Amino acid sequence: DIVETTDIAIIGAGPAGAAAAAWLARDGWSVQVLERQHFPRFSIGESLLPQCMVYLEQCGLLESAQAGEFQAKNGAAFCHRTRYAAIDFRDKFSPGPGTTWQVERADFDQRLIEGARRAGAQVHFGVSVTGFHPHPQRPRLQLEDEQGRRHELDARFVLDASGYGRVLARLEKLDRPSSLAPRTALFTHVEDHIEAAEHDREKILIGIHPQDATTWYWLIPFRSGQASVGVVTAPDRADAAGDSDDQRLWNLLRQEPRFSRLLNHAQPRREVQRIGGYSADIERLHGPGFAILGNAGEFLDPVFSSGVTIALDSALRAAPLVKQQLEGQAIDWDTSFERPLRQGIATFRAFVDAWYDERLQRIIFHDRQPERIRQMIASVLAGYAWDQDNPFVSASKRRLDSLAEHCYLDQGN
Ligand code: FAD
Repeated sequence: DIVETTDIAIIGAGPAGAAAAAWLARDGWSVQVLERQHFPRFSIGESLLPQCMVYLEQCGLLESAQAGEFQAKNGAAFCHRTRYAAIDFRDKFSPGPGTTWQVERADFDQRLIEGARRAGAQVHFGVSVTGFHPHPQRPRLQLEDEQGRRHELDARFVLDASGYGRVLARLEKLDRPSSLAPRTALFTHVEDHIEAAEHDREKILIGIHPQDATTWYWLIPFRSGQASVGVVTAPDRADAAGDSDDQRLWNLLRQEPRFSRLLNHAQPRREVQRIGGYSADIERLHGPGFAILGNAGEFLDPVFSSGVTIALDSALRAAPLVKQQLEGQAIDWDTSFERPLRQGIATFRAFVDAWYDERLQRIIFHDRQPERIRQMIASVLAGYAWDQDNPFVSASKRRLDSLAEHCYLDQGN
């Protein structure tokens, strides 16, 4: 049963919610997680970055995740026409793990929230947050269960980890449009039957459409022999590719020679799903008695698989601040939470911008990259986007501009 008061109320039981819940419950606080769905539930966002492993360890969930025996991942491979480049995360600039996993999120997310529960958090499934009263010491949530019964929950602090639900962004009118162009993703799971010896299951494969460099594909192999496949493109290009989402996805996949070859014997295992308008921004990530985590705040673009990393980073940044605030310290959420979190997001944004205007593609496929530069790029792609010692973090745009220019001249283009 939902008790009427708690120290910390958390909206959403995805990775951000589970990580914050585990950290705070382990620290001895009463934590209530409100989740509108029932787990296990499907979620997109299946390729993690090595930086995630640090965060999972910090909140005590690494062992829970390890028990899932997920597909190991050590890098990202890219293909465009006849070009192929593999980036190995183990050969990177920043300290920290160089490997991670490719996960079926239904299983992964359930393992995390069960781990949070074992740490002492109470988790309520089938409960939606429908209303919110901000207050510096006593914020209040309105809840509705599946029988339509309403409850109120008084907390001392609220963390919104509602992902695409964007609960507090909507209720507190904090939504602000993303500066990124709208894109559509079509995706499914397949029994992949990939036999090609050269195919590396320990890397995500990102393919670029031969004629349109802003359309790209993903192939994320799982340990089970299944894989996640998808395409990201402009909404009108998606519409023009067929009469149904199923046709659209498969027609687009067949236009890329490597994907077409690799997926020749693939058997679909899920209905094709389409989502668009997922890039989102927000005025601010905190207010009286609340802070906003993960996708419920800012979400950029899936190309570098940064979503779960940002979600976990935000949770591990917020949780110790909540503790300090509840112990009576004055916390400047702008300086201690929002600004440093957004710095890492800005690094990813510089990389996303450079991807879509093709500077980054030029850099990735350049075959005479100095080792140190390659390691710095690998670090950011491995999720170490907050490491200010890396010049591609501290001056991302300028460094990407000048490196792309150098690759252009060096390639004799
Ligand atoms: P979520 O995992 O979305 O969890 C939010 C939870 O809140 C949900 O369980 C939801 O049911 C619950 N909720 C919502 N509203 C309410 C409410 N009113 N009351 C109670 N509960 C509520 N990221 C990666 O790291 N790697 C990838 O490869 C990757 N690929 C992607 C591909 C695409 C096409 C897209 C669009 C995104 C991708 N992402 C990827 C991003 C990833 O999906 C998200 O960043 C990640 O799931 C965010 O985690 P979260 O904990 O913030 O939210």
